[in-house]
Amino acid sequence: MTLQRTLSIIKPDAVKKNVIGQILSRFEGAGLRIVATKMMTLSRQEAGEFYAVHQSRPFFGELVDYMTTGPVVVSVLEGADAINLNRKLMGATDPKKAEAGTIRADFADSISANAVHGSDGPETAKTEVAFFFPNLK
Ligand code: ATP
Ligand code: MG
Repeated sequence: MTLQRTLSIIKPDAVKKNVIGQILSRFEGAGLRIVATKMMTLSRQEAGEFYAVHQSRPFFGELVDYMTTGPVVVSVLEGADAINLNRKLMGATDPKKAEAGTIRADFADSISANAVHGSDGPETAKTEVAFFFPNLK
């Protein structure tokens, strides 16, 4: 198992529900270490740039609208197999399809307001970590 870093975002719906601590606890409980974290409200520019891969998808406008509705908590998680482990803890994109006990099954409202983001591979993890934490050692 290689030590990896991945980017996590606790999205506006989960921040509004007051479950930041519960979600961060799940990461720690699974053996991931929070090596950077900050609370911020994304601008439309930042949200659009971050989700640029989805630019041509029909839900892009809705996604940018939603991601800018309130503060988010952006963190870098580090640990063995961190990228896949985080995706496992998150559950499927659509909370109705997410396995019981996952973050999305427990806290997400819908496929668009789905509580958390997690990098989906080593390349995106690198880009996404640098996007929010350019100076992280
Ligand atoms: P994320 O990238 O946020 O971790 P994901 O990798 O599980 O989620 P993606 O396919 O990358 O899912 O979609 C990015 C985000 O776009 C989703 O988390 C969700 O907020 C939104 N999204 C995806 N599919 C839909 C859809 N059909 N309708 C509305 N929003 C969607
Ligand atoms: Mg994704």
